[in-house]
Amino acid sequence: MDRYRAWFAAQDNPNERYPLTEVVYYSQSGGLLEVSHDMAALRQRSAAEWRQLFESRWMRTSWPYGSGVWGKKEWVCPEIADENIVSMFEGGTNLFWAERFGREIGVEDLWIKLCGNSHTGSFKDLGMTVLVSVVKQMMSEGKPIRAVACASTGDTSAALAAYGAAAGIPTIVFLPKGKVSTAQLVQPIAHGATVISIDSDFDGCMRIVRDVTADPNSGIYLANSLNSLRIEGQKTVGIEIAQQFDWQVPDWIVIPGGNLGNTFALGKGLRLMHELGLIDRLPRIVCAQAEHANPLYRAFCNDWHYSPIAARPTLASAIQIGDPVSIKRAISTLQQFDGIVEQASEQELADAAARADRTGAYACPHTGVALAATIKLVNRGIIKRSDRVVVVSTAHGLKFSGFKVHYHENSLRDVVGTFANPPIELPADVDAVRRALAQRMDAPVAPSR
Ligand SMILES: *Cc1c(COP(=O)(O)O)cnc(C)c1O
Repeated sequence: MDRYRAWFAAQDNPNERYPLTEVVYYSQSGGLLEVSHDMAALRQRSAAEWRQLFESRWMRTSWPYGSGVWGKKEWVCPEIADENIVSMFEGGTNLFWAERFGREIGVEDLWIKLCGNSHTGSFKDLGMTVLVSVVKQMMSEGKPIRAVACASTGDTSAALAAYGAAAGIPTIVFLPKGKVSTAQLVQPIAHGATVISIDSDFDGCMRIVRDVTADPNSGIYLANSLNSLRIEGQKTVGIEIAQQFDWQVPDWIVIPGGNLGNTFALGKGLRLMHELGLIDRLPRIVCAQAEHANPLYRAFCNDWHYSPIAARPTLASAIQIGDPVSIKRAISTLQQFDGIVEQASEQELADAAARADRTGAYACPHTGVALAATIKLVNRGIIKRSDRVVVVSTAHGLKFSGFKVHYHENSLRDVVGTFANPPIELPADVDAVRRALAQRMDAPVAPSR
């Protein structure tokens, strides 16, 4: 693997380079850094050889290559020593045919990539395994790092805390007070992270963690997605989707977006596969935003002219972000992929998640945003009924039980539980049960089909 190389490069100047193990977040001009790979070295293997290598490692236990991320190590972070890799076999998540839901919304070839079926319950594991592994490598080389920190809308902190704990590296997480789910809050607490609850929103937490980590003497390393190491792991999602379709490319990939690192990462993985000849075309990408946190959608409707907004509270709390860190690179990704941005109201995202659940899914609210966007684009004829569509589900529904409980209690503010299915409460009396069942069988809750 020695012949493969990767480094940080300035977005606006590819000759400004830094090793991946240097503590550096911005280029000299203040822009983001991106991970670049030695493409000439990667091209020395043919597309067929790469496919074969990736297939031979897929979902095996041979450490660390059974991880969906580290099975693609040469494309992700080739120079890290295997003994420094911190992995919980993230990736390799199921991609399943959502047959009944697809039929219901009028697009039969609909698939869901369940990235939330992962160690901490969200796709954030894909990036965090790379970042924490590089930190472990840096520490083994004697770099003065004492802790790793992030601001988070919930899932990033859960992933950082778990991977840090697995490696024995202290972690610090900044959370907007009252704006993450209970499950998300308890994860970093359980893993022993220092949890700081700030009376602000995500954007406010982000400003604080940037200031704290900007001091080079702090010994605190920044783990937010402006740190492009995470993108390298997250970019495997598009590669996995192609691999799971035997290297065929779907027509559309729909992904929810907040800070927009994942939209960029999806495109980056797809482009790398295309450049190395593993796939022969690119899909179109739809980024789906909550109407209450829609700066990218507004830019899309305004000839890609962007201005930050103050995001309003949304059930899709992990994407309640008004000034996304990766806005520029997400816009250029969408331009390269003939992309579209669609938005979903609170009612639309909650109903879309509930409808999907009624066909056996268990959608988190962010996945609800992506499903609602898909429904709208099918209804408008932009996604054709015969197209193959993959919806990226970003977190496990079980992390958002409160959202589902309140929907089915019909107690969400400003959202009607259209498909609410509350329990029938009865005394311990078999006749009462018989009567209730007879009533229910005669007039079942509107079946979805
Ligand atoms: C982080 C997150 C997102 C948004 O990803 P970005 O890279 O910030 O756009 C979407 N859904 C869930 C569940 C998340 O945790």
